[in-house]
Amino acid sequence: MPSPQDARGGKRILITGGAGFIGSHLADFLIGLGHDVSVIDNLSTGRIENISHLIGNPKFHFCRASVTEEVVLDRLASQSDIIFHLAAAVGVALIVERPVHTIETNVMGTEVVLKAALRYGCKVLVTSTSEVYGKSAEIPFREDNDVLLGESGKSRWAYACSKMLDEFLGFAYYREYGLPVILTRLFNTVGPKQTGHYGMVVPRLMQQAMRGEPITVYGDGKQMRCFCDVSDVVPALASLVFHPDAPGQLFNIGNTEEISILALAERVKGVAGSRSETVFVPYSEAYAPGFEDMQRRVPDTGKINRLLGWSPKLSLDEILVRVRDCMAAPGGDDQ
Ligand code: UDP
Repeated sequence: MPSPQDARGGKRILITGGAGFIGSHLADFLIGLGHDVSVIDNLSTGRIENISHLIGNPKFHFCRASVTEEVVLDRLASQSDIIFHLAAAVGVALIVERPVHTIETNVMGTEVVLKAALRYGCKVLVTSTSEVYGKSAEIPFREDNDVLLGESGKSRWAYACSKMLDEFLGFAYYREYGLPVILTRLFNTVGPKQTGHYGMVVPRLMQQAMRGEPITVYGDGKQMRCFCDVSDVVPALASLVFHPDAPGQLFNIGNTEEISILALAERVKGVAGSRSETVFVPYSEAYAPGFEDMQRRVPDTGKINRLLGWSPKLSLDEILVRVRDCMAAPGGDDQ
């Protein structure tokens, strides 16, 4: 990782989507390093509770607006050195339900951010997603692999496609205008404060287990995922932004410890001390008829490791304990 001095203090940083799960952890981290942090969030999937402890801190500013509002973005960018662009429509359930909103938010939002950044010469880090790899079977996924997306008739792929367009746009601003843009693909990221409302499996299963409700495993549960704790992801994002060689490059960020969703359900039950039964829900009921899932999704993290020496520290068991403890805390069960 770059030396802590490089990342310490004094920068004016804007986080789009900063009231969201990852954005709010990033805001805490950057304020802890002594930076001034502004957040723009329309609170559509972000939650004011995630940042309420920061309100009143002289190093923190909150603006409730959509990232697609050009005038607001222009003003905020004019007061910033660095922009972390996290605002996006996220969560497979939301994406399947609201495909128009997904495409517009993801594509227009990134366009507005990059245009504003160019006007004021801000460094930008854009967060994309492992969804971009689609149905590729070339495990582990490396940044320069070909991607394999499904047909345009299926809404899920609109998410991958919209985020890939964001990546193209980021590279284009870097190459054509010399704007320092860093691109990242986040794999399944979990941890305290993540809500299950938008379908994310770890908070959903943990909440079900803690309430003694049936644990919903979609499909046959053989699909595999790797879960990375947000406390590992956030320092990676910050270190990339402060590394002089990162602009113009794309980096995977994720954990490589793989587990099937069925095994995850058992692990969650163990951590929660729960006797919930496991029920299998067909994808067509959970999402939409014809829904396609990814069977495996493992990152190759060699590139970020070589640049920063980064690799995740928390194991899945440690992650699940943190999630359980956060949910067991007062007010933690309404996530
Ligand atoms: N999933 C599940 N039960 C749930 C929610 C999700 O079995 O209640 C599955 C989902 O179908 C997918 C995996 O868990 O295979 C991870 O889902 P999530 O939405 O967290 O992230 P994704 O990897 O799909 O982006």
